[in-house]
Amino acid sequence: MSWEDATLPAAARAEALVQAARGRKDLKRLGAWLESHGDEALRQALVDRAARLGVELPEEALGWPGKRLLRRALAREVEAQVRTTPVARDEDFTCRWCGKDVPRAGRTARDHCPFCLKSVHVDDRVPGDRASTCQGRLDPMDVIVQGTEIVIVYRCTRCGASKRNRAVLDVEVPDDWEALVRLSSGVLG
Ligand SMILES: [Zn+2]
Ligand SMILES: [Zn+2]
Repeated sequence: MSWEDATLPAAARAEALVQAARGRKDLKRLGAWLESHGDEALRQALVDRAARLGVELPEEALGWPGKRLLRRALAREVEAQVRTTPVARDEDFTCRWCGKDVPRAGRTARDHCPFCLKSVHVDDRVPGDRASTCQGRLDPMDVIVQGTEIVIVYRCTRCGASKRNRAVLDVEVPDDWEALVRLSSGVLG
């Protein structure tokens, strides 16, 4: 199993372990495995993963019994929230801000809601890295044209960070054109 392979990055092993541990039965079995065979790097990766999902585990969590650490690292209640988040991956989601169901784009990443254009501050430095623990609402502030791209400029309502996402247009459910025009202060006519 990939979580046993210490040559893989710890974050990948942690993700595989968490994915495998979703059933209660498996949680017990895999928690026992973590208890007896889990190394420090894997434990740390589980703590880091939980932090990315908004669950701050205490420092002593590294020494917790395997089952307890794994259960907390699963962070189910937070994950349920994260699944409603538009991220720089192409998947269906329910917009956390306007509540509309958003279908996957089909050929590009969907990182904001096409209806209200809002997004969530989940990325840190690289689009899709999901490394930010902010989880604040990204409000569209402006729409600009960069070369051939139409770009939405965001500000995070929680931490103030500025972010940019490409508008998603040539797909079945594109960004609301009228909303883009309203934001664009004349650039889009
Ligand atoms: Zn929305
Ligand atoms: Zn933020």
